[in-house]
Amino acid sequence: MTVRESSSDLVEPRTIVLVADYDEHLDAAFCPLCGSEVTSTIGTPTVPGDLLEARVVDDLPVYGWRCECRRVDVVLPAPDEVAPDHFERVDAQIEGETVRVASPEPALAEAA
Ligand SMILES: [Zn+2]
Repeated sequence: MTVRESSSDLVEPRTIVLVADYDEHLDAAFCPLCGSEVTSTIGTPTVPGDLLEARVVDDLPVYGWRCECRRVDVVLPAPDEVAPDHFERVDAQIEGETVRVASPEPALAEAA
């Protein structure tokens, strides 16, 4: 039932998840790993469900950006205050810190 399944790679890569560096004045987002501007990649990349404090079965789409500077997916969730108000907030563990990310899906309800 997963629509994101890829047959291209047997070894599942680990996804790197880091909160994006967001510059309010420029209205631009940057990758903390390589410093590239990633503003144009805005969308809802998925993060692994096991990062989330809530009980979520599957990976969760979050409002944010992505970068291609690593061989694995680099997903850069937007800071809480940048995400649209109607998105659902979810606590996630990123780099050992609890960070609020925003998801367009009612994933929490579904996972209950
Ligand atoms: Zn990068």
